[in-house]
Amino acid sequence: MRNRRAAIAAVAGAASLALTLTACGQNGEGGSKEDKGSSKGGTIGIAMPTKSSERWIADGNNVVKNLQAKGYKTKLVYGQDDPQQQVSQIENLITQGVKALIVAAIDNKSLDNVLQEAADAHIPVIAYDRLILGSKNVDYYASFDNSKVGELQGNYILQKLGLADGSKKGPFNLELFAGSNDDNNTKYFFGGAMKVLQPYIDKKQLVVQSGQTALNQVTTLRWDGATAQKRMDDILTKSYASKKVDAVLSPYDGISIGILSALKSDDYGSKNKPLPVLTGQDAELASVKSIIAGEQTQTVYKDTRELAKIASAMADDALKGKKPQTNDTKTYDNGAKVVPAYLLQPVSVDKSNYQSVLVDGGYYTADQLK
Ligand code: BGC
Repeated sequence: MRNRRAAIAAVAGAASLALTLTACGQNGEGGSKEDKGSSKGGTIGIAMPTKSSERWIADGNNVVKNLQAKGYKTKLVYGQDDPQQQVSQIENLITQGVKALIVAAIDNKSLDNVLQEAADAHIPVIAYDRLILGSKNVDYYASFDNSKVGELQGNYILQKLGLADGSKKGPFNLELFAGSNDDNNTKYFFGGAMKVLQPYIDKKQLVVQSGQTALNQVTTLRWDGATAQKRMDDILTKSYASKKVDAVLSPYDGISIGILSALKSDDYGSKNKPLPVLTGQDAELASVKSIIAGEQTQTVYKDTRELAKIASAMADDALKGKKPQTNDTKTYDNGAKVVPAYLLQPVSVDKSNYQSVLVDGGYYTADQLK
């Protein structure tokens, strides 16, 4: 072990020099980007899952900005939603001598070995947004209250249908979508939503005509919009030939856009066939525009600027031997340990409040939403 650590330290020194010499600003999806910034605190590696969703691009950029302001150099990589690629990228970051790692996992169970390498090299690891499972070598976790995200989506459906205040009794038809089964957040989002929806399903005020209500029947691998579109197409064909769907629980804006395409192909949104209530998450630009246009109904906004700030502060504190700020030391058991977490609060956004939350809050300019 000792030899290995010494070897890693030696490699690290050489590698950081090599890194400086070879950094040429490639910034493709699978490439990496080394940013300027002072080197006095060393380099921090940031591994993000994909560039196919705006939120992760914003997350990466915001973490870089925060760390640079604290005097670190950064190396930001994106893993093209490919777990193996992410493992290799993290391995490279370790070899290159990063001082800390901030990781938003693609497959939460695939990082055990590589995180052991990080631990052997004394590199603190911050799980970013998605908890990494099965490894004791996860030092801190920065995320949002993920159950609350699902509750906001579920409650929104109940309110919009008039079930929450009892003004309508139903029955209404509901279909359910969940995120990727290899993302630990998926079960929290779905669990939070079902906590509020299930009692209405039990009372038959909500009916899932497809019969697909178990998490393993409704997940969407890698959060892929096209996969969700296909599943919605199938459901509409098989279960709604003579019925209409009134609400769809969607966990993420990219999935909502796919569902919307399937609905529109089936004439939803035309005069006699209104679009169902349709939730989402991340306040992505296309979805906020869709909400303004009256198509997607809601999204759950998570201020990634704040998340980036928290995760960067955690890395900085860990490197300075200070105890990072946490506000939840019980919920996030990853199977190997309970990972101390800082959870931020998500906010429900629809047509009525996007202006005050997203525009006045500086997340988007009014021009971007035109
Ligand atoms: C994040 C969500 C995001 C999803 C798909 C989840 O882990 O928490 O904000 O919508 O991944 O990228």
